[in-house]
Amino acid sequence: MIQSMHADLDPEPFDQADSLAPFVDRFWRAPDVIAYLDGNSLGRLPHSTRDVLQATVDEGWGQRLIRGWTEGWVEMPVRAGDELAAATLGSAAGQTVIADSTSVNIYKVLRAAIALRPQRDEIVVDDTAFPTDRYLAEAVAGECGMKLRLVHADPVYGVNAEALAGVLGPATAVALLSHVDYRSGALMDMAGLTQRLHEAGAIAIWDLSHSAGVVPISLDAGDVDFAVGCTYKYLNGGPGAPAFIYVAQRHLEAVHQPIPGWWSAENMFAMEQTHRPAGDIRRMLSGTPGILALSAVRSGVALTAEAGIGAIRAKSVELGTYLVRLLQHQLPDVEIASPPASERGSHVTISVQNAASVTEKLIARGVIPDLRHPDLIRLGLSPLSTSFAEVAAAVDILVEVID
Ligand SMILES: *Cc1c(COP(=O)(O)O)cnc(C)c1O
Repeated sequence: MIQSMHADLDPEPFDQADSLAPFVDRFWRAPDVIAYLDGNSLGRLPHSTRDVLQATVDEGWGQRLIRGWTEGWVEMPVRAGDELAAATLGSAAGQTVIADSTSVNIYKVLRAAIALRPQRDEIVVDDTAFPTDRYLAEAVAGECGMKLRLVHADPVYGVNAEALAGVLGPATAVALLSHVDYRSGALMDMAGLTQRLHEAGAIAIWDLSHSAGVVPISLDAGDVDFAVGCTYKYLNGGPGAPAFIYVAQRHLEAVHQPIPGWWSAENMFAMEQTHRPAGDIRRMLSGTPGILALSAVRSGVALTAEAGIGAIRAKSVELGTYLVRLLQHQLPDVEIASPPASERGSHVTISVQNAASVTEKLIARGVIPDLRHPDLIRLGLSPLSTSFAEVAAAVDILVEVID
């Protein structure tokens, strides 16, 4: 290992002082991976999840067969949602379900939100939003005969209140915003922007894909209307794990989503002729959820709950600050395309020339970052599974690759 660093950049004291360090060993380590800095796209595999999956297959599917549904599976989307809400969403039980993908859930909440503002015909989305978010906002606008209004986001700092205010008006029905920008990592002021939206009479939908499990969230206190997000990123739920959907209690009675199915019916086993939506959060469901995948999500969420979101955020900030100091010291010419720690989620983005070939070389040497064409490399820090030593090793190898 290269020893180009200052004594105060030695990772060892940081790892020794880290109260979450024991969690690192609770994740599977791929033997060829020296540093995994892409937990913001796909979190590592917890050992407990392998066990949970094995048990769900053998004891659940294998032994209980169809009886499994009435022995707990039917309640699992709501129960998993409540567990997630308690662990990291800052919201009371009964407002969250886990099922379907983030993309499908965005469609559901966009249509549901628009239906709450029938006199208005504009949808706001930011111009740097994740593709799925923009595509869906555009598709729903087309489907509902509405206009799409783009709010300009600063490429590093994201959407601010002034920019948002500039596109709001009496026609704004809803805005779909990301809590953490997937490119720069910018952390938005969720409560403040939600308040702006409400002052304009609009509904706030937040995409929490890049903040759930790593940034403390206050959906209830922030007066958020709807939220969605992934569970396979910082929540370590597994590739393509089902996503969550949050609807504030005050909307539950009036809300109608566009993909009703037997799982959203008041009495799903009555098989009624006409769909009568459930009075509770189940009305956001559609069809049968994947129980194996949901079991894995619950196992990932349990780790987050055990560690505590406050401790997770504290380590995230420390890891990020440490990474930035290493970069400034060892690679002073590399441009950091993320805001400072207090205004950032849990990844640090750098802008480098030949980012694609740099990424390829990093991966060949056991460092896995995340390439965003054309010039950005995201370095994701998952506080539960990332050590300071891992970050230091990654920067050492980055130095060699760039040189
Ligand atoms: C990761 C991510 C998605 C992914 O949606 P899927 O339906 O799971 O593919 C959507 N939105 C944002 C902001 C994301 O970061």
